[in-house]
Order: sequence, then structure tokens, then C-alpha cells
Amino acid sequence: ATAVTLGLVLSACGQEARGGSRYRADEAKGGTIGLAMPTKSSERWIADGRNMAAQFKKAGYRTDLQYGDDKVENQVAQLENMITKGHRLLVVGAIDGSALSDVLEKAHDAGIPVISYDRLITGTEHIDYYASFDNEKVGELQGQYILDRLGLKEPAKDSGETFDIELFAGSPDDNNTKYFWNGAMKVLTPYLESGQLVVRSKQTELNQATTLRWDGGTAQKRMDDLISKSYGTEKVDAVLSPYDGISIGIISALKSAGYGGGELPVVTGQDAELASVKSIIAGEQTQTVFKDTRKLARQAVQMGDAVLTGKKPEVNNVSDYHNGVKTVPSYLLKPVSVDRSNTQLLVAEGYFSAGQLK
Ligand code: BGC
Repeated sequence: ATAVTLGLVLSACGQEARGGSRYRADEAKGGTIGLAMPTKSSERWIADGRNMAAQFKKAGYRTDLQYGDDKVENQVAQLENMITKGHRLLVVGAIDGSALSDVLEKAHDAGIPVISYDRLITGTEHIDYYASFDNEKVGELQGQYILDRLGLKEPAKDSGETFDIELFAGSPDDNNTKYFWNGAMKVLTPYLESGQLVVRSKQTELNQATTLRWDGGTAQKRMDDLISKSYGTEKVDAVLSPYDGISIGIISALKSAGYGGGELPVVTGQDAELASVKSIIAGEQTQTVFKDTRKLARQAVQMGDAVLTGKKPEVNNVSDYHNGVKTVPSYLLKPVSVDRSNTQLLVAEGYFSAGQLK
């Protein structure tokens, strides 16, 4: 049985699981869960909020779902409001993971547990659990995909074969950014060192590659700039992109610089957003990383329900996510690489209908 059904059974029997929780496990069920999500500008977060709201409802709770519009002060105000209203649990997809210490201290003082959702909240001891994907693996899948597409099988000095690559990273205030970057660089670095991969712009450091708030327009401008300053008549062979919205910006820049059909470089991505999956089918974007947000929502709901009913949430990683203050017990799901050869997987999994991908 899942934690959710288990919880329902327990409460139906009138049993209250206390399990030593410092939270108000006496109510066992009911009450409101605060869901603080970062933005509606990307499909995934809309789905995350919707899925969690539906699943918490099924498990016997009400929900208060708020979006911060990518503004830190909105998210802080929304969380404060949730605390004032006496919500029983907060599930937070942070905008800036390092900016929530004060408000989470208030949550702690009010006895409200906190689950960090997808993005780790840093610099505070007041988070209880973390539900996410294996973020380093996401970067590895992107980096490895580039190597495979370019036919790079092992690093070799003086191989005579070089490819031009440019590197993009996510938002500097999102804790996931460095995991994605490190995962990708782990596989790409040996080839940068051997000279088989060349970054003409020389922008090879994370702080040169970040894209504030994951904004596609910002990425487009940077790509315009890289092309005009570093490429001339040369063509870039691959672009490491951490997220579909950024990939779309990069591809727009490439097209306006004259890259025609068949000339586009390998461009990675993340989230399997509909527009990008269609772009992959159309032969523009090359790859994305599918993270089934329905499964993440389910995991967070199970964690939340377990915390509120005094049970131990299921975790599968207790060592990798240190937030600067403590190692946060985590449940990490598996990301999957998707390109033109396996977009049907998304239909088979029920993530999109066949009609949506036409
Ligand atoms: C998420 C990614 C997403 C990105 C931009 C990251 O924290 O893990 O799935 O692409 O934010 O929304």
C-alpha cells in the first residue's frame, strides 16, 4: 500500500499515528496544505501544482495553491500568509532557494513542517524532506547525448576531430543549476581537455553560462551574442541547454543567424515540454530530459501525508543533498533522455496524447 492509502486506512480505523512527530499529528487527516510554486511561465510547474492539489485532496486534505510569478518577494508573502492561516504543511518549489530562511523560521515556530519540492532550499535547518529527480543525472544525460550524437566515444588528444560547442546553465539562484551543470561537465570535460570539444567563446565557467530565472529570451540574447562574436562563418556543432524554454531561445537565435533546416546543432533540453517535444519531432531541438512530474507530485504527497500522520516518509538518498546547514533526507526519481527516436514513450506513459504530438 502507498503511504497515502495506508494513511486513509489508519484514519478510517480511528487510529492516530503519532510516531514521535513534533507536528500536529493528533488531527491525523484534514486541514490545508500550502503549495507554493515558483511560476506559471513553464508548463511543468502548472502541472506540478495541479497534480499535487488533486492528490492531496484524494488523501483527505484541502490545498492552497499559489504561484510566485518568479518574484521572490511574492513567494515569501505567500508563505507568510499560509503560515498565518495555520496551514498544516508547506510544499515549496522555491524561486530563490537561499531566500526563504526567515519565513521558514516562522513556519518552524508555528510547528509547520516543510517539504522542499524539486529545488532544494538552502541555508536553513527548517526543511524536513526533499522530493526531486536525480539532478546530476539530468546533466549527465544531456552531456552524454551530445557526445553520442557527435560520435565521441573516448577522449583522444590529437584525434584531428574537433567540434564546436557552447554551454548554457540554469538560473544561478536555483540549487539544481549546479547539479545539472556538474553532471554535464563531468562527461564533457575530458573532451574539452583533449581538444575534441572546443568552446569558441571561451565561456566555460558556470557563472558565465547561467540564465537568470531560466528565461528563454535571456538565453536567446546570449546565443545571438555568442554567434556574432565567436562564430563568423563557422557553425556551432552542439549547444548544452539545461531546459526546454532555454533551448527554444537558443534555436531562435540560431535560426535568425541563418542556420537552416538540417544545419542546426545538437541542442539538449529538459522537461519534455510540449513545444519542445514538437520541435524534436520537427527535427529542430534534438533532445530533452523527461521528468514525470506526476510521479514527483505523488512522492511529495506521500511524504507530506506521512509527516502529518506521524509516519516516516520514504526516502532513497540521505547523503547527496546538503543545503549548507544539514543533509536533507531526499527521494530522487529517475530522469529519462528523450529524442526523436523515443517520443512515443511520452504517449505510452500517458504524459501526452498522440493527438497532442501531431
Ligand atoms: C527544474 C527543471 C526546470 C527548471 C526551470 C529546475 O529547478 O528542476 O525541471 O526545467 O527548474 O523551470
